[in-house]
Amino acid sequence: MARIIKIFDTTLRDGEQCPGASLNPEEKLEIARQLAKLNVDAIEAGFAIASQGDFDAIKTIAQQIKGPSICSLARTKKEDITRAWEAVKYSDKPRIHTFIATSPIHMEKKLKMTPDHVYKQAVEMVKYARSLCPDVEFSPEDAGRSDPDFLYKIIAGAIEAGAQTINVPDTVGYTTPWEFGKLIENIIQNVPQIKEKNITISVHVHNDLGLAVANSLAAVLAGANQVECTINGIGERAGNASLEEVVMNLKTRRDFFNCETTVNTKEIYKTSRLVSNLTGMLVQANKSIVGANAFAHEAGIHQHGVLQDRRTYEIMQPEDIGLTESKIVLGKHSGRHALQKKLEDLGYKLDKDALEKAYHRFLEVADKKKDVSERDLEIIVAEEIYVVPEDYTVDKIAVKSGTHDKPTAKVQLIHKGKKIKALATGAGPVDAVYKAIDQLTKVNANLLDYSIQAITGGTDALGEVTVRIKDKDHIYVGHGADTDIIVASAKAYLAAINRLLYANTELSSLPSQDTTLQP
Ligand SMILES: [Zn+2]
Repeated sequence: MARIIKIFDTTLRDGEQCPGASLNPEEKLEIARQLAKLNVDAIEAGFAIASQGDFDAIKTIAQQIKGPSICSLARTKKEDITRAWEAVKYSDKPRIHTFIATSPIHMEKKLKMTPDHVYKQAVEMVKYARSLCPDVEFSPEDAGRSDPDFLYKIIAGAIEAGAQTINVPDTVGYTTPWEFGKLIENIIQNVPQIKEKNITISVHVHNDLGLAVANSLAAVLAGANQVECTINGIGERAGNASLEEVVMNLKTRRDFFNCETTVNTKEIYKTSRLVSNLTGMLVQANKSIVGANAFAHEAGIHQHGVLQDRRTYEIMQPEDIGLTESKIVLGKHSGRHALQKKLEDLGYKLDKDALEKAYHRFLEVADKKKDVSERDLEIIVAEEIYVVPEDYTVDKIAVKSGTHDKPTAKVQLIHKGKKIKALATGAGPVDAVYKAIDQLTKVNANLLDYSIQAITGGTDALGEVTVRIKDKDHIYVGHGADTDIIVASAKAYLAAINRLLYANTELSSLPSQDTTLQP
């Protein structure tokens, strides 16, 4: 019988720690909802004590998302654990994940604590967490570089104190699959309580050397039964083990691993797109499973083989991850009902207002582009739904550029019902438009990056622009899609600015997250 491997998703906690991936509470809830559809076993929704924003996001997710356990991270400190409990207690399945570093370098340099003191604090705080919450997970941070004997001792202590899940992190992504598998095997052998009490052994691996998925799978073979991972592998530095890769390895090579997960793999592609859209962290084209080229067969000999029998060159089916051919589905004569029906088929349930907005956007696109594909619809929905209140919207744009002209942009925006306009020149047409927008919005943010992708084939394709802007310590993402890339560029930039303005009104009083002390 296949062993069940639990999938613990930490996209909203560790994933959100990666530079530039900051999400607002609505976006976090949207991702959590999709993770529940993906049917992960646990969602680590944040680090409650880090900020009021994190706390509120965890609490809302705990209140609204049914299915997975909802978890908050906490240091082995009373105030952290209390705060974590205050946020997760609304869930049917609340969990507190508490951690303390156990490697000599972390204990000595970071914590300035002796091993005995670390042990005592871990045991005490696991007990405290259990006094509040029925489900407690304990992590010895930097386990990969800890003294094995101390590790066995502190794990045994945490289990005796009531932890039901022991997570073994390779916080710095240093170990190899052979070492990490051995470490897990040794832990299971040397801590008899694990078998006696049927404890879940979890792993949490970083990808600094590109081994996060390999290390996680080595741990599974050695007896681990929970893997912590993130969508698209986002996370601190080089990221975490990628959920889609771990899950599809176990599924595709079930013959080898003899393990399965309860993840609904058909939701993988959609989840990956959602996380990429909301965080602005684009997925590289050749990324395993979810990259744009992951199922594309370029070479003629491969294409021929696939046409005869897909198994010649395909070890997985694109349908397994919910990737269907982007079919042309609607045209400009399609009505509201047809749009609503199609969106529902694609898994989007819009309320009346959102549907109305999406319909208008759809008509605009259909007007310029004969056929509207599923992929186009996804972009439309993403644009219309995952937006914050729009302080500024694009009304009119005209640009003049070419090999001999100084690029000039005339931009008219709508702000609080009024039309405002500006004229600017720049190094190129996009630069000129952005300068005009800066004049109008008076926002002095720093443009970190700008990227453009064609959504579907053909020169009339929708171009999707993603920008990331920085203001103080925060990064804001904006997307814009249009058949005209200058218009798409303006929309993306304004979307990011609207987010910045929204964040400054909603969250201005919040302290920023301390990210230096997490596994
Ligand atoms: Zn981590």
